[in-house]
Amino acid sequence: MNIIDLINKKRMGLELTDIEIEKMISGYLDGTIKDYQMSAMLMAIVLKGMTKTEVFSLTKHMANSGDKLDLSSLGENVVDKHSTGGVGDKTTLIISPIVAACGVRVAKMSGRGLGHTGGTIDKLEAIPGMIVNLSEEEFLQQVSSIGVAVTSQTENVAVADKKIYALRDTTGTVESIPLIASSIMSKKIALGSRKIVLDVKVGTGALMKETEDARELAKLMIEIGKEYGIQVVGILTNMNIPLGNNIGNALEVEEAIDILKNGKQGNLYEICLELATQMVSLGLNISYEQAKEKVITVLNNGKAYDKFVEMIKYQHGKLDELPYGDNYYEVRAENSGYLTNIDAYKLGVLSMKLGAGRENKEDMIDYTAGIIVEKNINDYISKGDLLMRLYTKKELPRDISEIFTISDEKILEEKLIIDVIK
Ligand code: URA
Repeated sequence: MNIIDLINKKRMGLELTDIEIEKMISGYLDGTIKDYQMSAMLMAIVLKGMTKTEVFSLTKHMANSGDKLDLSSLGENVVDKHSTGGVGDKTTLIISPIVAACGVRVAKMSGRGLGHTGGTIDKLEAIPGMIVNLSEEEFLQQVSSIGVAVTSQTENVAVADKKIYALRDTTGTVESIPLIASSIMSKKIALGSRKIVLDVKVGTGALMKETEDARELAKLMIEIGKEYGIQVVGILTNMNIPLGNNIGNALEVEEAIDILKNGKQGNLYEICLELATQMVSLGLNISYEQAKEKVITVLNNGKAYDKFVEMIKYQHGKLDELPYGDNYYEVRAENSGYLTNIDAYKLGVLSMKLGAGRENKEDMIDYTAGIIVEKNINDYISKGDLLMRLYTKKELPRDISEIFTISDEKILEEKLIIDVIK
C-alpha cells in the first residue's frame, strides 16, 4: 500500500479500508507519510467525505494512538462536556462547578484557544497561580475529593489527532464533519468519558455555519459514542452572536463569576442552564425537570459559586489577584437605531488581534486583553452611545467597523437552543 494510491482512492470518492486507515495514521506518526501527503489526503476527505465505517476506523486509530485515561475509580456519575468552540464561550468555567455542586463529578480536560475561538485553559491561566497541568494522579484525586477538576489535556492523549489537527488548522481542512467528529470523539474515548454533553455550535462564529450540518455532526458523534458504550447528548446552540458580553481571558473569568455569584441574565446564563441541566440529568439519571430544579437551586443558594472558589483554590489560583487591563479604547455608535447583529466571528478575530488569542501557536497571550460589549441585541442605540470597550496593550487594528448592525426595527430574536439530540 502506497499513500499516493490511498490519496487517489479517496479523491475518487472510494471507501478506505480499516487497514488502510490504520497504515495512514501510523505512517503519519512515524514520519513515512509527509505533511504534504497528509494534507492532500485531508483535502480529499473534506471534498469527498467519509462513510460511517471509515469514520469509526479513523476514530478508533486516533484514540489508540496515545495514552488512555481510566476514570472508573471515580464511579458512574462522572460527566464530561465538550464544545465545538465559539466566541466568548466560557461555559466550562460556569457549568463545571454548577454540576459538581449538584453531586455529579466533573473530570474535565480542556484545550487552549487557536484562531478566533478561545480555550478554557487560557482562561483559567489568567488567574494568577492557577495550576492547569495536573498529573493524572492529581486530577483523579481532586475529582474524588471535591467533585471537580479542570486541567489541560495531557500531551500523550490521541497524539495522531493532535498532529493532524495542527495540520488541518493550517491547510483549510478543519471544517469537515467526519474529521471533526473523529477528532473530538477520539479524544473523549481516550480520556475515558462515559457520559458526554456536546455543545455543537452553529452560526457565523462557529465551525458549523448551517444547522443541518451541525445536526449531522451531532448525530455522527452520538453514533460513534454508541459503538463504545458512551452516552452522548448533542445540543445545538446558536453562535451567530457572542456568548455573554466579555471576550478575552481574565474578562471571561470575571463574567463567569458574575453569572455564578450574581446570576447575571442573558444568553450565556440560558445556555449554561441548559447544558448544566442536561449534564445533571445524565449524571444522576434523573428527569430534565428534576435536574433543572437542582441547577437553579445551587445557582440561587450560592453553592455553585462556592464550588467554583473551592476548585480555583484547590488548583492554587488566587481569584483576588485576577488582573485587569487599565488601558482601554471606546467604540461608539455612528448612528441610531436598534442593535440587530453583533458579528461573533469578527469579534473573535478582533479579540485575538488585541492580544487575547494566538495568531500563531508560539504567540504569547495578554490575559488582560479583550472586549466588553456594552449592548445587547434589540437594545435601542443613540448615536454616540458606547458599543464596546477594547482592552489592549497593542495598537488598535484599523478594521473594527461592521461588527455591529444598527437597524430601524427590532429583529425577531433567534433561538438560543436550536435542538437537543440524543
Ligand atoms: N474540536 C476538536 O477537538 N476537533 C475538531 O476537529 C474541531 C473542534
